[in-house]
Amino acid sequence: MHELRKDPLLGRWVAVFSNSLPPDALNVSSESIENEPCILCSGKEAETPPEVAAIRAEGTAPDTAGWWTRAIPNIKPILETEGELGRKGIGMYDRMNSIGVNELIIESPEHDKNPEDLGAEQFRRVLELYKMRITEIEKDARIRYVLICKSSGRLAGATYSHPHSELIATPVIPRLIKGELDGAKQYYAYKERCIFCDIIEEELRMASRLITETENFVAFCPYAPKFPFEFWVMPKRHGCAFEEASPEEMEDLSQVMTSLIKKMRVMLKEPAYNYVIHTAPNRIPRRNHWHTLGDDFHWHIEVAPRLMRESGIQWGAGFYILTTSPEDAAKYYKEA
Ligand SMILES: [Zn+2]
Ligand SMILES: [Zn+2]
Ligand SMILES: [Zn+2]
Repeated sequence: MHELRKDPLLGRWVAVFSNSLPPDALNVSSESIENEPCILCSGKEAETPPEVAAIRAEGTAPDTAGWWTRAIPNIKPILETEGELGRKGIGMYDRMNSIGVNELIIESPEHDKNPEDLGAEQFRRVLELYKMRITEIEKDARIRYVLICKSSGRLAGATYSHPHSELIATPVIPRLIKGELDGAKQYYAYKERCIFCDIIEEELRMASRLITETENFVAFCPYAPKFPFEFWVMPKRHGCAFEEASPEEMEDLSQVMTSLIKKMRVMLKEPAYNYVIHTAPNRIPRRNHWHTLGDDFHWHIEVAPRLMRESGIQWGAGFYILTTSPEDAAKYYKEA
């Protein structure tokens, strides 16, 4: 079993493989995504681990063709479902067993078609499957966080060229998420208002970074993003958990995502990109943990094209450089 280790200085957790890869297995020079022939395509169901959930045409059986979107255990999982957490201190260090869930969400039966290429209805199915998996996995009290991240293209860290997202459910809260939760909590303690609701109001008032506003969502380029052309999609209705989005919101969200991702792909000529759902941690009650979450956190989706390799400065200091301002990026999106 792999193990999780905590950096004592930054509080960030890493997963360490139990059977280390030798240097020549790391193959750093390879730039292509190797997955020929692709086992994620429709018709190859027998070659993947059995599906854990799917949205499929009526009357079709699990692990056969006829699905729209399908969740399977990751082929080489980083985390395992069975076992004890085994939290332990080793001298000054903390470790625990790599317990959790690691799944692939296959977003399209077709290799060369992303959900947005198949239309908003397909995007909606993918969002529904995310929701189903989060709800199911959070029943396990050992799980603290369910992270869903889409990667498309090598620069975005995709493992397959077939459209897919990865789900990773961990017994710890990832550091970036914890950073947002802590920041939101502090803001709420000080102002008694949700920081995200305030951001929405501000972005609507300023309008210079606003890309689009629908009945239920706003999409804008954030004031200080990490990447040029990054945008965030936020529900207007305050709510901490993505899986509690209403049917109307899901409908609206799939329209917004379909339209903006298409624009981004055309404008930036099929860039690699990621999106991530920032939602509340598992709210199974535990000692002094996130009692105020429902008030101070507000779920959202962050989308970022990955146009450049990470620079040394980003890697070494977490200091990001924006070659296009968010105000100009918003203009380009609006004109696209
Ligand atoms: Zn494929
Ligand atoms: Zn809010
Ligand atoms: Zn966020």
